[in-house]
Amino acid sequence: MYALGVDIGGTKIAAGVVDEDGNLLAQVRKPTDPSDAANIDRSIAEAYQELSASYEISAIGLAAAGFCSPKRDSVLFGTNIAAWRDYPLAARVAELTNPAIPVVVENDANAAGWAEYRFGAGRGTTDFLVLTVGTGLGGAAVVGGELVRGRYGMGTEVGHMRVVPDGRFCGCGQAGCWEQYSSGSALVADARAALVAQADRAERLLELAGGNPQNLTGPMVTTAAHEGDALAIEIFANLGQWLGAGAASLSAFMDPEVIAIGGGVCDAGAVLLDPTVASFEKHLSARTHRPALARIELARLGNEAGMVGAADLARR
Ligand code: BGC
Ligand code: ZN
Repeated sequence: MYALGVDIGGTKIAAGVVDEDGNLLAQVRKPTDPSDAANIDRSIAEAYQELSASYEISAIGLAAAGFCSPKRDSVLFGTNIAAWRDYPLAARVAELTNPAIPVVVENDANAAGWAEYRFGAGRGTTDFLVLTVGTGLGGAAVVGGELVRGRYGMGTEVGHMRVVPDGRFCGCGQAGCWEQYSSGSALVADARAALVAQADRAERLLELAGGNPQNLTGPMVTTAAHEGDALAIEIFANLGQWLGAGAASLSAFMDPEVIAIGGGVCDAGAVLLDPTVASFEKHLSARTHRPALARIELARLGNEAGMVGAADLARR
């Protein structure tokens, strides 16, 4: 039985046909406009048309970056996708694709986390935490083998836990959220600030940005860090410190066996993971009295996780 999994991000969708063992058999990508919900719907429908020509699709799972409804049919609030406010995403997509098959909306981090639990870094565990570091910071928790959704579908929105009183403003309407210090957006904001404040050390970053700080992207910071650029490495270390400290707080809450770090920013690899682990261990409560420390690892399914998890959850 094949299901379609669609990962809907701010600027593009990725849609893939997934089999029951979590294998991605075919995929397409389409650009989208985050301010236009109908445009996102049409891109999903086009992807469905293309892929259903070769595969019989029995369910559609939509991984959406935002707060999703408990019935898994709409997005109540797209944190970084302004077009989604109480948006009936499943119904719209069903109309444009095939009203006879189930369409299920899942939070993107929950979808990615579920994929890692079933087929990736969390396989074989019962208590597992995934932090998805992309445009925003998402979270997924598996507790006792079950994905935590909360009573109203909005659980594990860890990116919006307040870590700095009256800190940076956040797309959720609050200030000081963890996401503002531990995400791709935070990385870029920090790097752009460094280009101005530490211009004497920012030669390589500025060159990658073509001389204009506003053109700097996250992957450019990764490139510089991998080349050994000291400033870029420091910017990742700072992000890792925030990430590790938050992971320690979440360990106090749920005591996971493995914590996986996923999302686009984890392409950086060790320059992000090493400071994250160091900060996690530094901030962990009762550190020397725990039977074991949670293993912190990079997620394994890369940018396929959202598609694979959404498809798998849609079948359940
Ligand atoms: C959103 C989450 C989402 C995460 C990752 C956050 O800003 O609130 O719903 O999972 O970003 O995309
Ligand atoms: Zn927030």
